[in-house]
Amino acid sequence: MATNGTTDGASNSTTHTPSQRYLSTRGEDSGFSFEEVVLKGLASDGGLYIPEEIPQAQNWRSWKDLSFADLAFEILSLYISPSEIPPQDLKAIIDKSYSTFRSPETTPLVHLNDNLYLLELFHGPTFAFKDVALQFLGNLFEYFLVRKNEGKVGKDRHHLTVVGATSGDTGSAAIYGLRGKKDVSVFILHPKGRVSPIQEAQMTTVLDKNVHNLAVTGTFDDCQDIVKALFADKDINETHNLGAVNSINWARILAQIVYYFHSYFSLVRASKTSPPFRLGERVRFVVPTGNFGDVLAGYFALRMGLPIAKLVIATNENDILHRFWTTGRYEIHSSQGAAATGGLATDGAKAHEEGVKETLSPAMDILVSSNFERLLWFLAYEYAAGARMDNEWNKKQAGQEVSAWLKELKSAGGFGPVQRDVLSSARTDFESERVSDSQTIDTIKDFYRRKGYVLDPHSAVGIASALRSVGRTGPEVSHISLSTAHPAKFAGAVELALKDEEGFDFQTKVLPAEFADLENQEKRVTFVENDWQKVRELVKHQVEEELREE
Ligand SMILES: *Cc1c(COP(=O)(O)O)cnc(C)c1O
Repeated sequence: MATNGTTDGASNSTTHTPSQRYLSTRGEDSGFSFEEVVLKGLASDGGLYIPEEIPQAQNWRSWKDLSFADLAFEILSLYISPSEIPPQDLKAIIDKSYSTFRSPETTPLVHLNDNLYLLELFHGPTFAFKDVALQFLGNLFEYFLVRKNEGKVGKDRHHLTVVGATSGDTGSAAIYGLRGKKDVSVFILHPKGRVSPIQEAQMTTVLDKNVHNLAVTGTFDDCQDIVKALFADKDINETHNLGAVNSINWARILAQIVYYFHSYFSLVRASKTSPPFRLGERVRFVVPTGNFGDVLAGYFALRMGLPIAKLVIATNENDILHRFWTTGRYEIHSSQGAAATGGLATDGAKAHEEGVKETLSPAMDILVSSNFERLLWFLAYEYAAGARMDNEWNKKQAGQEVSAWLKELKSAGGFGPVQRDVLSSARTDFESERVSDSQTIDTIKDFYRRKGYVLDPHSAVGIASALRSVGRTGPEVSHISLSTAHPAKFAGAVELALKDEEGFDFQTKVLPAEFADLENQEKRVTFVENDWQKVRELVKHQVEEELREE
């Protein structure tokens, strides 16, 4: 194997180097291995990890007919050094991760109409797109831990305690990603009685002994506060290695890059237009967005060389990202009231200026998007690179700029407007849309009537945005809109949209057999008060019991 002599200073090369390293977006630290990045999650300066160089997919055209797993192997190999995970091990981790998907194509592409396609990402164990990343992350955790623990017994073994809060989707995907894994316990806190019955059942019917469901008397925010308090607590951090599975973990972004390539190739193979879509032609992706993880993976695909014309960010009424692309200001609360809205009369009345808005697409209900920080780094880096040629200096500059922005976000609730060139470079690769609840409902209705296709509310936010994008580009430009959940997971919104449609019946038209039976299965859950110290003692106690049984 060719080795790259490590030369000092500016290497402007963006090709795959045998030793891929990672740096923090806040600039304090660099040179991290993939393993450190995955196990730590968050950098010690509070930043997020990104690769020091984005690798180029030089021979991406030759990947056209690869299976999802083989394609994943090619892409992930560009980000993970073979010295860290030998290729045959990486292949085994990937194969295992995607063997749990129900569709032979893993993420099938469905033709909706004209040049509009839907990428179904919900064929994993929990029927949500988060499985694509969390099935992989679970196997990766296990791989690193087993390797760390080789030849060790009892107390010497490195044991990871994953703690997370969920309003529904992340929790079940994390549980299915980690169930039965060696040397990992997983604790998922959900607000008691406030997640949908299907999501509650999905989580609590998993009986593996390393899985611990805690139903907290309180709200989702209370659950999140408890998790934050645990991560900040010296006591439990000294005795337990706490691990996170939220969407800031780099491995989750990495796994999601794959389906951008895969769906592009599916489109080449299945193009329904004449002339047909050809390899090398550019496509638009439309992405229902909350924490910016999914669409960020698309940005990496673009930077690697996949012909993406635009990434369209589709938000619901929690529209901080849409407001950024519109104004250049990133602020928790809109300074201009309803200026950025689609003119809905309800907005003024509904605006709870304090917190997040509850919408029909709850997995996208966020105040700030944590992964946006990663894009900010690349924008700041390009801006610096416009002025200077020294690569290392530009990276330092980018880190400092990101730190300053994030500090302002924390202290003043927002920052910006950013420099004109920063905003225009953001607009080169991205557009944004904001979709209201009533538009979401209309879109679900419309596609059911015209196509007999039942969209979940998140995917409907995407499709509503895609239609607006098509309106701008004309029908010549192909659009792939991401479908992030199976409609059965969001029964309330789907029933609201379709209850009056003739012949519509949720049980027979939407509900998969796997869900129909969930209610009758045995459940395990521990009820706990909204008190982080009580939760801490419970976690300690349950880990101890779990390990004793081994
Ligand atoms: C998590 C989630 C999203 C948002 O994805 P991000 O990566 O956070 O932007 C959209 N739809 C569904 C169904 C989700 O679970």
